Amino acid sequence: MSVPLDDLMMHYPLTLTHFFERSRRLWAKKTLATRVPGQPLHRYTYADFAARTMRLAGALAALGIRKGDRVATFAWNSHRHLELYWAAPLMGGVLHTLNIRLSPQDLTFIVNHAGDSIIFADASVWPVLAGVRDQLPTVRRIVIMRDTHEATVPAGFTEYEALLKDAAPVTGWPALDETDAAGMCYTSGTTGNPKGVVYTHRAMFLHCLAQSMADQFGISEDDTVLHIVPMFHANSWCIPFTGVMVGATQIFAGPNPQPRDICEIIQNEKVTFTGAVPTVWIAVKELCETEGWDISSLRTIAIGGSAAPKHLQMAYAKQFGVRMSHAWGMTEMTPLGTVTRLKSYMQDWSEEQQYDVRVRVGYPSVGVDARIVDDAGTELPWDGVSMGELQVRGPWVVGAYYNNPEAADRFTRDGWFRTGDVATIDAEGYVQITDRTKDLIKSGGEWISSVDVENMIMSHPKVLEAAVIAVPHPKWVERPLACVVPKPGTTLAPAEILDFLRPQLAKWALPDEVAIVEAVPKTSVGKFDKKVLRERFKDWTPKDA
Ligand code: ADP
Repeated sequence: MSVPLDDLMMHYPLTLTHFFERSRRLWAKKTLATRVPGQPLHRYTYADFAARTMRLAGALAALGIRKGDRVATFAWNSHRHLELYWAAPLMGGVLHTLNIRLSPQDLTFIVNHAGDSIIFADASVWPVLAGVRDQLPTVRRIVIMRDTHEATVPAGFTEYEALLKDAAPVTGWPALDETDAAGMCYTSGTTGNPKGVVYTHRAMFLHCLAQSMADQFGISEDDTVLHIVPMFHANSWCIPFTGVMVGATQIFAGPNPQPRDICEIIQNEKVTFTGAVPTVWIAVKELCETEGWDISSLRTIAIGGSAAPKHLQMAYAKQFGVRMSHAWGMTEMTPLGTVTRLKSYMQDWSEEQQYDVRVRVGYPSVGVDARIVDDAGTELPWDGVSMGELQVRGPWVVGAYYNNPEAADRFTRDGWFRTGDVATIDAEGYVQITDRTKDLIKSGGEWISSVDVENMIMSHPKVLEAAVIAVPHPKWVERPLACVVPKPGTTLAPAEILDFLRPQLAKWALPDEVAIVEAVPKTSVGKFDKKVLRERFKDWTPKDA
């Protein structure tokens, strides 16, 4: 008779419930804080957070939220938002974070597509939602959260604190399957229509573990984490979940944080870990230089969402003693895909060689398989030169978009997700994102990476920001046009940029022209919005046409 050998471990579901219950017991004394404009930080303990989250879950149940119902948020980063992050999925609902900067059309589309039952909105952004309220038939109720001292609650609406005060806390949590939906986010539509990504408990559980590893962001109990990435942008990169898991002190940046608010919190609270898109760090650097803020308490800045230029990483290391950790990810990947860390034997490499590694987006996280393929779907070698579409798979990578059969072409027949990014992978496994497929510039028979050229331009001492786009050209199909923002107080001639680039670039990759612009338009999550620039320069006539 054969003795059972396989499957003798417990079938313990990987749900967020485990993190919350463990955290509630272990980290009760630790602090969570939120910036309130014009006021001292609002502070409370993890014990308060846990108690309020249990009341909130009771309130949600009393409001008729049942398993699988979408609980939407329309809010800045705050402890209230964190309570919703946990109460909704733990009681069986699905947290749906809405981007407060979306156009009314996108917002209406997303709420209706997701079928949200209830929306928790910050008072300061409520007017945006009010404008489309009568076009949201699935939304049964809107709860208003007072995010500023002056905020008022419109007549007839439930106020968040009142809701909590009157609620009976839950006494336990329902048994959930690890494949149950915990949260949902729509891609912010940088490319095409927003698409819904539904995170399972299991995906988030495993993602949090990986994210906290020493070789990733190394987030731990003794960190003080500042959340700048909006909680509606890929769940603030999932870091608030990881933060609760490890029991870190966490600070939420509050309504509409500006670079000076960020500097002030880092300096005063001795923040050790934070993250944001490069445009934020460009602005913070300017401010530290002109106003002398002390950000040296930071041990790591996670930077990603778009390429982190080499000169920016060098400036933070040299001027402020702060190491940047360059990462790549997507809403579709919960979002972590790769993180740059030098391998131990690279510590002896020259500074130049080290920054050549740091400017890449890192090697795939444990849990993420990556490959690059050519147009015919053939896998390309990891040689640092072969360039193809980056494809990924893993337990926290989207397997299908929510209710969107048209997007089936984003998945390959053999089970990989097509990221839409073009990349190389070198022999050490470091990925370099060359471009998004649609941002690559096709000039004659050659591909030009807009990211490479932008990085070079942004290392010019007089340049604040630069974005390079393709403009139509009768002979070459497309040619690069550089849109450059000079640093405040400097004057910059286009020729200075071209002279600076000439020795570094092949002749055909040199932008035909440099447009000096006041600002590079940004997307709703702070990335360069090349769609807007392309539109602005669509009738641009090349000099030699
Ligand atoms: P959106 O699609 O609205 O920009 P996401 O945050 O999901 O929202 O964007 C993911 C995309 O951002 C990736 O596919 C990639 O193109 C880009 N990206 C993310 N991190 C980096 C990085 N470190 N370097 C270059 N591009 C990046």
